[in-house]
Amino acid sequence: MYEKAKILIPGGVSSPVRAIKPYPFYTASADGSKIRDIDGNEYIDYCMAYGPLILGHNHSIIKETIKSQLDKGWLYGTPTELEVTLAEKITGYYPSIDMLRFVSTGTEATMSALRLARGFTGRNKFVKIEGGFHGAHDAVLVKAGSGATTLGEPDSLGIPTDFTKYTLQSPYNDIEAMAGLIEKNKDDMAAVIIEPMLGNVGPVLPMTGYLKELRKLTLENDVLLIFDEVITGFRLAMGGAQEYFGVIPDITTMGKIVGGGLPIGVFGGRREIMEMISPSGAIYQAGTFSGSPCSMAAGITMLDYLKQENIHEKLNSTGNYLRDSLSKIVEDLGLDYNVCGIASMFKIFFGEEPRNYQEVLKCDQEGYLAFFHRMLESGIFLPPSQFETNFISAAHSKEDIENTLEVYAENLLIDSRL
Ligand SMILES: *Cc1c(COP(=O)(O)O)cnc(C)c1O
Repeated sequence: MYEKAKILIPGGVSSPVRAIKPYPFYTASADGSKIRDIDGNEYIDYCMAYGPLILGHNHSIIKETIKSQLDKGWLYGTPTELEVTLAEKITGYYPSIDMLRFVSTGTEATMSALRLARGFTGRNKFVKIEGGFHGAHDAVLVKAGSGATTLGEPDSLGIPTDFTKYTLQSPYNDIEAMAGLIEKNKDDMAAVIIEPMLGNVGPVLPMTGYLKELRKLTLENDVLLIFDEVITGFRLAMGGAQEYFGVIPDITTMGKIVGGGLPIGVFGGRREIMEMISPSGAIYQAGTFSGSPCSMAAGITMLDYLKQENIHEKLNSTGNYLRDSLSKIVEDLGLDYNVCGIASMFKIFFGEEPRNYQEVLKCDQEGYLAFFHRMLESGIFLPPSQFETNFISAAHSKEDIENTLEVYAENLLIDSRL
């Protein structure tokens, strides 16, 4: 299949991270915590589509919602009650969001949020965090530069350097570097965009006080703070990282979970900022599939179910148990690895616990990849990179977790002998 796919689709995949070497498995179906490939192999899945599937695959309650929406049609090109209902629910859980707009992906959400921040402030520059991922649009595809003040170097061909010259980089967990950048570029600084917890280079947690100080710093300098909660929104808590860490941004972006597993993105914030969006204001933004009825319906069901069933409490305690047990395994084997994570996210770093992108890069990426393949052979599908977070879903049973711990122990034992 991969040979055929490579002829038709660049790299044989629809998104680069899926191109597992030497070849990815092609999925036939998935249900609950399990994913099955077209050869009939079954894996316990901790990749979970990179975040959206907090209830697991093929959850019946989401499926029924989508089916009943399909009966009423799946695209109208008009406003719907569904989008008003979902907007009301999201704003209820996120006090920082008075108004929001729906888009189709997280990429679109951050792209629109940055345009909004620039339009609202009348300034051009923004700071992103080294190793922070905000989707695949021009302004945010900038390599983690070493000199924090140098111009951003595009991470991809096809992006004129001029397009990223307003993209500045700051290391995560370093408030002094951020303060210096803002001070130096104050006159033209629109915003700081940050994943409150770095989720795309593994879970790298904010050090105590970092987010609060960042909030203070941005307020003092009249710079907008954008929390990219595409991963953390409805993952860490109903109110996302802003609730979990108690820090309130000006603008929030979301995606992944909030559409129940269907394509979605959201950006929202304070009313005076959001009212600048077209057609109430002069900042243009539009989309044929925005507010897509099935995504809206699935999102509503997702949020209600998460709340009613108290899913986060159960998931987070499973997360704690899994991380504690893995830490013990690593320790018993005398490996200098580190188990990191928070809530229902976890990862073993093959090295020290990183505090920023540069430290993540020091981990043993090759070693991790070899481990990934051993785990896959043993029936466990982890994200295929040292840089991607593992996700636990509500569908992971106690049996899955115990089985997982055994398989980790067996495969880490091999590392301890290498
Ligand atoms: C996944 C992700 C995005 C991009 O979302 P897409 O739906 O893939 O476009 C943006 N920001 C963060 C933090 C993400 O994890």
